[in-house]
Amino acid sequence: LKEDYQIVVIGCGAGGGTAAQFAKKTNRKSRITIIEKGQYPQYSKCGIPYTISGIIPKIDDLIEFSEEWFSKQNIELILNANAEQIDIKNKKIFVKKYSEIFEKSFDSLIIATGADPVLPPIKNLKKGNNCIEGVFSVRTLDDAKKISSYIKNKYRVIIVGAGLIGLEMADSLFKRGLKVTIVEVLSDILLNTLDKDMARIVSEKISDEIIIFKNHHVTKVESVNGKLNKVCIKNKITDLEKSIDCDMLIIVTGTKPNIDLAKRIGCKIGLNGGIVISNKSETNISNVYAVGDCTEYSNYVNHKHILTGLGSIVVRQGIAAGINAAGGDYKLLQGVLNTSTSEFFNIQIASVGPTSDNLKDFSVISAKYNGLSLPEYFPNKKRVSVKLLVDEITGNILGAQIVGDNAAFRINTFAAAILGGIHFETFRKLETAYAPPIAPPFDVITLVCDKISIKLSHKK
Ligand SMILES: Cc1cc2nc3c(=O)[nH]c(=O)nc-3n(C[C@H](O)[C@H](O)[C@H](O)COP(=O)(O)OP(=O)(O)OC[C@H]3O[C@@H](n4cnc5c(N)ncnc54)[C@H](O)[C@@H]3O)c2cc1C
Repeated sequence: LKEDYQIVVIGCGAGGGTAAQFAKKTNRKSRITIIEKGQYPQYSKCGIPYTISGIIPKIDDLIEFSEEWFSKQNIELILNANAEQIDIKNKKIFVKKYSEIFEKSFDSLIIATGADPVLPPIKNLKKGNNCIEGVFSVRTLDDAKKISSYIKNKYRVIIVGAGLIGLEMADSLFKRGLKVTIVEVLSDILLNTLDKDMARIVSEKISDEIIIFKNHHVTKVESVNGKLNKVCIKNKITDLEKSIDCDMLIIVTGTKPNIDLAKRIGCKIGLNGGIVISNKSETNISNVYAVGDCTEYSNYVNHKHILTGLGSIVVRQGIAAGINAAGGDYKLLQGVLNTSTSEFFNIQIASVGPTSDNLKDFSVISAKYNGLSLPEYFPNKKRVSVKLLVDEITGNILGAQIVGDNAAFRINTFAAAILGGIHFETFRKLETAYAPPIAPPFDVITLVCDKISIKLSHKK
């Protein structure tokens, strides 16, 4: 690469920030500029729910890499600057900062524009371009600040969307003393992460603490003096409507990738609406890379494209884009395992691989095992439920889900098994670590394999 090789990164989220860092590490002489339309440098969105509960005392503590940090690394970070247009032929972008427009030339471009929340069609939700007072999304540091300051003196909150973020927010607001209701359009909570039978374990446990309306959607909101005071919901099966008094409505029903700039220069957009990237985080246009929530990539197990929506995946794509854009050579795995975890209301959950609904093209044999986190005789043991999905033809592990203690570390073992193409009968014999206060001699992760084995032998 030439001496003053120029890399421009659009977006300073986890994806863009990581890409810039790795580009610099790969080629110290390269000139790297990050254009970020917001006012903050790289921060952790994943920490937002914990600033609401107060576990993280200061919201600004979520800023992981400051402006000074980028400047020390010799990476130019321009905040409050919106990348408006890309001239791909002449390799430059046009940026608007306040009322000024300037150009930046590049040799390599990394698009890391993330995604924006999608608001479902709810009557009276907006006044002009903005949502009415009392309605919030959960995506940015400013969203966290707004929610946090609005909570004071409010006590009834409705959360729309029972995915991981919805539940993390429910837990945080519950911890702050609010009365929490969740409205979910699907037949149970967490169905993007867990199978229905596993999700039910969680929803049964948490329905002691909060109210959950399943199969419901929000139809309209009502306000007094411009402030939200009622939310109307409808049962999608019975059509019965209900109106609930509330002070806050938090909408976490998913996001839409920011692909406008990429689309305008001819980047291939996939069926899920994300920029399609290769295992080097490249788009179909040479020297243009894309990373993070604006992209889609193949699932390692079923090879279907899925939108990137996990920070764990985003930073790995950032590494690939940064290294490759700066002249290195780095390949991602041929797909994402979608290993994820969370904790709410003292319940840990974790999952890897597609859920059963997304394995329809496979001949799947599954089993569930309810065991204990510690030996039977040890105090404070807790129930751990595990579900395993195995390919009946090859015997390979396709996916696993866990509800219970140490869910993340237990699921990571399954993630390694999927990656290694390990037959479940081999995994069944895995020698897991044992000490009474930590784990039992036979862990639930191998005991569930016994059940698969028995099921298969009955089929023969
Ligand atoms: C509340 C919450 C909790 C989460 N928890 C977890 C978790 O526990 N584990 C996990 O793995 N993942 C989690 N995630 C997901 C994870 O945070 C995201 O996948 C990740 O932050 C996305 O990073 P990104 O860089 O792709 O996008 P973003 O962080 O959205 O960054 C994109 C940036 O691009 C900027 N931008 C967009 N367009 C332009 C433009 N034209 N010009 C200039 N700048 C532009 C935006 O302002 C933005 O700062 C969570 C997400 C949220 C919201």
